[in-house]
Amino acid sequence: MSIAENIAQVRANIAAAAQAAGRNPGDILLVGASKMNDAAACREAIAAGIDALGENRVQEMTAKLAENAYAGAPLHFIGHLQRNKVRQVVGKAGLIQSVGSPELLDEIEKAAARLELTQDILLEVNIGEEAAKSGFPPAELFRGAQAALEREHLRVLGLMTIPPADASREENLRYFDKVRALFIDINEKLFHNSLRYLSMGMSGDYEDAIRAGATMVRVGTAIFGSRHYV
Ligand SMILES: *Cc1c(COP(=O)(O)O)cnc(C)c1O
Repeated sequence: MSIAENIAQVRANIAAAAQAAGRNPGDILLVGASKMNDAAACREAIAAGIDALGENRVQEMTAKLAENAYAGAPLHFIGHLQRNKVRQVVGKAGLIQSVGSPELLDEIEKAAARLELTQDILLEVNIGEEAAKSGFPPAELFRGAQAALEREHLRVLGLMTIPPADASREENLRYFDKVRALFIDINEKLFHNSLRYLSMGMSGDYEDAIRAGATMVRVGTAIFGSRHYV
C-alpha cells in the first residue's frame, strides 16, 4: 500500500467513526506523525492531502526542514521538547503540541518574544499521571493554562494527550473521556470556548479517540508503515 492509499483508508475510517458518533468528519484534522520517515515520504503525504505533519525530534525536524520536506503543509512539533532545544522549534513549527510544564511555557515565551511572534501551542495532559511522561497532571492543568494565558507571545489552541501505552481499550477510552472533560472545563472557564483542538488518538486508537471527541489525530504507522529503529 502506498502512503496515498493509506491516507485514503485512514480518512475513510475517520469519516466512519465521526458519522457513527454524529460528528462531521470535516471537523477532524489528520496529522501525519512522520518521525523516521524521510523527506520524500513527507512530500508524498502532503501531495495526498495530509492536513499537517508532526515531528518528534528536533534534530530530525531541522534536517528535514533543510530539505524542504514540509513545503505545502503545516508543521507541528509533537515530541518531548527539552528546554535547551526550544529555540530550534519556536517559529519553525506552526504548532507545538507537547507543552507540558510551566518551565517550558517560560522558555517558549522567551524564544517567541525574541522573534517577535506568537507561538501556537497545545497543552499536553499527562492523563495517566505517569512519572516518566511529560505533560501537566490533570490537577495542574488549570494553573498551567492560566500561566499560558498570561504569556503575551503564546496562544493556546487546545489540549493534547497520550494515554499510557499499557492501558486496555476500556481504560484508554476512560482516559480520552477524562481529557475531553478537562478540555470542556478549561475551554469554558478560561478560553471563552475558543479552543479548537483536542489532539488525541494514534494508529491503534484514533477511531476511539474520535468517538470521545478528538478533533485532531496523530497517525504514524497506519500511514507510513512500521518504523525501523536502528
Ligand atoms: C509516533 C507518534 C504518534 C503516532 O504513532 P503511531 O502509533 O505510529 O500512529 C502520535 N503521537 C506522538 C506524540 C508520536 O510520537
